Amino acid sequence: MKGLMMDYQLTLPTFLRRAETYFPDKQIVTRLPDRSFHRYTYRDLGRRSRQLAVALQKLGLERGDRVATLCWNHYQHNECYLGIPCGGFVLHTLNLRLHPADLAYIASHAGDRAVVVDRALLPLLEQFRGETPIEHVLVVEDSYEELLATADPDEWRDPELDENEAAAMCYTSGTTGRPKGVVYSHRSTVLHTLGVASGAPLGLALSEEDVFLPVVPMFHANAWGYPYLAAMMGANLVYPGPHLDGESLLDAFVQERVTWTAGVPTIWLGILAQLDANPGKWDLSHMKGMLIGGSAPPRAMIDAFKQRHGLNVVHGWGMTETSPVASVSDLPGDLRHADWEKQLDYISLQGLPLPFVELRARDSEGKDVPWDDRTMGELEIRGPWVASGYYETPEQADRWTEDGWFKTGDIVTLHPDGFIHIQDRTKDVIKSGGEWISSVELENALMGHPAVAEAAVIGIPDEKWFERPLGVVVMRPGQSASPEELREFLAPNFAKWWLPDRFEVVEAIPKTGVGKFKKTELREMFVDAPAQAT
Ligand code: AMP
Repeated sequence: MKGLMMDYQLTLPTFLRRAETYFPDKQIVTRLPDRSFHRYTYRDLGRRSRQLAVALQKLGLERGDRVATLCWNHYQHNECYLGIPCGGFVLHTLNLRLHPADLAYIASHAGDRAVVVDRALLPLLEQFRGETPIEHVLVVEDSYEELLATADPDEWRDPELDENEAAAMCYTSGTTGRPKGVVYSHRSTVLHTLGVASGAPLGLALSEEDVFLPVVPMFHANAWGYPYLAAMMGANLVYPGPHLDGESLLDAFVQERVTWTAGVPTIWLGILAQLDANPGKWDLSHMKGMLIGGSAPPRAMIDAFKQRHGLNVVHGWGMTETSPVASVSDLPGDLRHADWEKQLDYISLQGLPLPFVELRARDSEGKDVPWDDRTMGELEIRGPWVASGYYETPEQADRWTEDGWFKTGDIVTLHPDGFIHIQDRTKDVIKSGGEWISSVELENALMGHPAVAEAAVIGIPDEKWFERPLGVVVMRPGQSASPEELREFLAPNFAKWWLPDRFEVVEAIPKTGVGKFKKTELREMFVDAPAQAT
C-alpha cells in the first residue's frame, strides 16, 4: 500500500518565500570594507535575490548553468546563495585563498559561465579568468548592481525544480591531489538545514530571536549551511566582511548583540588571545555559543573559553562532502549535571551524528571496530546530505564502499556512548613500529603548553620504526621551551613511544586555504631531519 502524501519537492525557493513572508523585517547586517555597517532586511534580501534570478536568465544563462562567486562574507554573497539556485542555476563558491592555478582548474572543471566578484578580488580573478570559460564578470557594488537594476523582481517565477537538481557546488580544499567537486542538490540542502536546525541539545538550536555571525567563510563548504538556516528560522545575520581579526569580531559581537557564531579553531585562538589580554573590555553575556569545527579545537581552548570567559563551545565535525555538518557535541543523560572536567571530555570529542546521518568505523580488513574508544578505524558515513560521488572525477570512485558508504579518510575511535573521537586523517596518521600514533592528540596537548602558540606533529621516516613523530612548534612571543621541557609536559598523558623525538621551532606553520595545517609542506621541510636526534 502506498502512502497518500504530497510529492512535495524539497527546493530552495521554499526558504526564499518563507523568509520574505514571515520574517520580512529581520535584519542582515554587513561590515563593509571601510568598517561601516550596511543594514537591510529579509524583505530586501528576497527582492534582490529574485532580481538576481531574473537578471541571470536575461543574460542568457540556462537552467543548470554554473555561476561562481569570488567574495568575502556579505549581503550580496547571501543573495547569491538564494538567488542563483532559486533561478535554477548552480551556485559555485570559489575559495579566494587558493592559488590562481587551482582556481583556473576549478572554474574550468566546473564550467563556470559567470562570476560575481568583490572589487578587491578583481586582481585575483584577472590572474586566472583567461584560462576559464567565464563569460560574464559581475563586480559587487558595480556591474552586479547594474545587472540587478535590469530585472523586475515580480518577473521571478519558481522554476519548479526537481529536488534532485543541483543547487550549489564546492571543491574540497584537499591537502593532496587535485581539488574535487562536491555537488549539493536542492533536496540535500533542505534536509541538511533541517538536520542542523533540529539541534541536538547542545547543538545549534537557532531560533527567530537569535543573531548569528558566521565567521566561517562563505566560500568554505557551503558556509556550513548558515545562510539557509538563518533564512528558514528568521534569525538576524551579521556578516563580518573582510574584517576577521579577533578585535573586529569581538567588537561586532558586542555591537550587534550576537548570540551564535561559528568558525574554524584558528579564529578562536585569536579571539581567546584578545579576551585574555583585555579582561572586561567586551561584555559577551548575551552569547549562547560558538560552533567550532573544521579541525579539532584544542581541549585547553574549550576549557579557557568556559572557565575564563563563560563562553560555551559547541564542537562539530563534518566535511565538504557532508554538506558539511554531520555531527555536533552533546551531553546526553547525566552528563548535563556532571562536573566540568567530565563535560569537557565529551565536548572535546567530535560529537554524535545529526538525525539521518549514519556512521561506522572499519579497520583495514573492512571489519567494524568496537565502540571502545581504543580501536582505530576509518570513519564511514551515509545520509541524505552526503555526496554520492565527485563531479566528473571517476578516478575517485574508490572513496565510496561497495555498499554505498563514503570513506571519510578520518581515522577515529568510537566512544562507548557513540561519540566520534577523531585521531587523525588517513594521510596524517603516524605508524610507528606497526602501531598508530595520533598526531592530533599530541598537537592538542602541545597547544596546552603555556609557551606554545601553535603545534603540528608530522610523521617522518625512521629506519627502525619506519616513522616517528616530529613536533613543529610556534612559540608565543618572548617565550621558549626546550625539547626536554615539551616532552616532560606531554609525558604524563602519553605512552613513552608516542613522544616526539625531535622538535623544530618555526615562525609560522604553513596553512591550507581554509586555515588548516599543511602537513604535506611540513613533511617536505623536515623529511631529511634525523628523527632520533634532539
Ligand atoms: P573540509 O572538507 O575541508 O571541511 O575537511 C574535512 C576534514 O576536516 C574532515 O575529514 C576532518 O579530517 C577535518 N575535520 C573537520 N571537523 C573536524 C573536527 N571537529 N575535529 C577534527 N577534524 C575535523
